[in-house]
Amino acid sequence: MTNAPLVDRFARRITYLRLSVTDRCDLRCTYCMPERMEFLPRADVLSLEELQQVVRAFIARGVTKIRLTGGEPLVRRDMIDLVRALGRELGPKAVDGSGLEELTLTTNGTRLALFADDLAAAGIRRINVSLDTLDRARFASLARRDSLPQVLEGIAAAKAAGLKVKINTVALKGINEHEIPDLIAWAHGQGHEITLIEVMPLGEVEGDRFDHYLPLDAVRRALESRWTLSTSDARSGGPARYVDVAETGGRLGFITPLTSNFCEGCNRVRLTATGQLFMCLGGEAQVDLRAALRGPDPEAAMADAFARAMGDKPERHNFVIDRAGAAPALPRHMSMTGG
Ligand code: SAM
Ligand code: SF4
Repeated sequence: MTNAPLVDRFARRITYLRLSVTDRCDLRCTYCMPERMEFLPRADVLSLEELQQVVRAFIARGVTKIRLTGGEPLVRRDMIDLVRALGRELGPKAVDGSGLEELTLTTNGTRLALFADDLAAAGIRRINVSLDTLDRARFASLARRDSLPQVLEGIAAAKAAGLKVKINTVALKGINEHEIPDLIAWAHGQGHEITLIEVMPLGEVEGDRFDHYLPLDAVRRALESRWTLSTSDARSGGPARYVDVAETGGRLGFITPLTSNFCEGCNRVRLTATGQLFMCLGGEAQVDLRAALRGPDPEAAMADAFARAMGDKPERHNFVIDRAGAAPALPRHMSMTGG
């Protein structure tokens, strides 16, 4: 099997895999999924062994960074076994010095207090925790579950375990809009970075996202009237742009898929829990790695699937968030491709 790096038609090298390990979740964030979300039969989801096999194939083809996501990754039953197994892939390979440089995780934090020590012991150094509000009642209404105390406990446990925590906050008009400065001040006060994200039109939900779409250029202007923001050169290898906030002494990121496009430097692909490889969060192009893995000649089939994937990766996404009543830009939920 070839070990050639994965490079797409636009000469972008693919070094970052976002791996959704389950579509299930213990919360029901209103912008992400409906209350009665239908989850996949377990047999459709890649097994621990299949995930290891697929990850090894990506590492052999030059992937250096993997982010585990979901659904909620920490609700998967064998999650810690998986993290331990993938953690053993970290470090340069004896043959050519390439290899997995970073294993990381995006979580809603509800089960983090249980697992923070295990994650750190397995080699995870940084995690992203999604948190849209510090108000318990607002959390309960936004996530449809009263879990803020567990999330805060989880974030504290992660810090105590030595994990670097980044908070991700979806900015929502009329919901957490006025709380954003408090969230930033709180995160920076705890020593965490925080990144704001625009809501994206992915998957059917109850209600209309357009009602709550908040462009981040407006948020940034509002913050500038209160604080001194200076553009930072920091890059995380992802789509966020950063500023330093003089008054809080912390770093603030903005991810703006709708108000600006960040595709030219894209280095990533996304694998769903059922092994569908998506080349773009905002596109339909996909190849079926599960069929390749479960077929008679997995190595050849994976090589073929990778070649097709690189040929299909689109130049850019084309999100538009539309007026009330319009269908989402894409039918699949963020919980499928993991954000
Ligand atoms: N359950 C984990 C969590 O919430 O962190 C991981 C998966 S979740 C799908 C990953 C990220 O996607 C979260 O930060 C969440 O807020 C964000 N997200 C979900 N649906 C979104 C949407 N329609 N637009 C923008 N961000 C969304
Ligand atoms: Fe679950 Fe994360 Fe979606 Fe919220 S954003 S419902 S925590 S997958």
